[in-house]
Amino acid sequence: MKIAVLSGKGGTGKTFISTNLAACIAKRHKVTLLDCDTEEPNCSIFIKSKIDEKTEISLKIPHIDSSACSRCKKCSDNCYYGAISIFKQSHMIFDFLCHGCGLCSYICPCNAIKESEKPIGIINSYIEKENITLHEGLLNIGQASGVPIIREMKKKAADSEIIILDSPPGSSCSVVETIKGIDMALLVTEPTPYGLHDVDAVVNLCTDMRIPFVVIINKDCGSYEKMDLYFAEKDIRVVSRIPFSEEISEQSSNGRLIIDAKSSFHIFESICKSIGVIS
Ligand code: SF4
Ligand code: SF4
Repeated sequence: MKIAVLSGKGGTGKTFISTNLAACIAKRHKVTLLDCDTEEPNCSIFIKSKIDEKTEISLKIPHIDSSACSRCKKCSDNCYYGAISIFKQSHMIFDFLCHGCGLCSYICPCNAIKESEKPIGIINSYIEKENITLHEGLLNIGQASGVPIIREMKKKAADSEIIILDSPPGSSCSVVETIKGIDMALLVTEPTPYGLHDVDAVVNLCTDMRIPFVVIINKDCGSYEKMDLYFAEKDIRVVSRIPFSEEISEQSSNGRLIIDAKSSFHIFESICKSIGVIS
């Protein structure tokens, strides 16, 4: 079972949910946790294991042989990311925009484009600890997209029975890559106008991609009628309302899992049961 934890924006408690959910499942089953927030991965703060292996991830970046190029502009016209410019006597390739898709070299009629590997980030794989195996994607500063890193992390976890994916915030192509092929998404939001605006974006994304989803309202401090109406109108299931609590905030900001406190374990046990990941 593959479950992704998403939120429309940062700071809603996505990593808090992912790590505590993984730890709760791990009381009974082995679980693989993928930290797909490649620009700011932080699951390792809570899992506290040691790095076992580092895997460098590269992209194939095109290079143009000017002497073979006819200046037809097929490559620049078809590069979706605007990573190539062809001029009368020269050209420019913007590495930081290139997604390494290989289209330009494939369609070049003069075979003028060759590719070379460029490192864009790493995957840190941690030693299994208390039934949790963590893989963490880390994008190099200045790189455009964590998609290739997320794709490789998913391959590493392919044999795992239960996978929790901590998604990047928002609804970018990295989020799309994270949720491709999953069984269910948990959308984390908070009961504020911003929370409602941002959860709507991920509700639409999951709907468009036909991914089943449920909602967790985090930092709940009394109902926000507009949000309740929104979920009711769209027939969206809210599986948990985690109360705003100073104790939970303090535990989290000190890098501690809240399920280690007996009083909070039942919150995650009930989420796991309601999505059918434990019985
Ligand atoms: S497609 Fe090939 S031949 Fe045409 S401009 Fe690009 S590199 Fe040159
Ligand atoms: S590899 Fe893809 S993204 Fe990169 S320059 Fe070529 S067409 Fe554009």
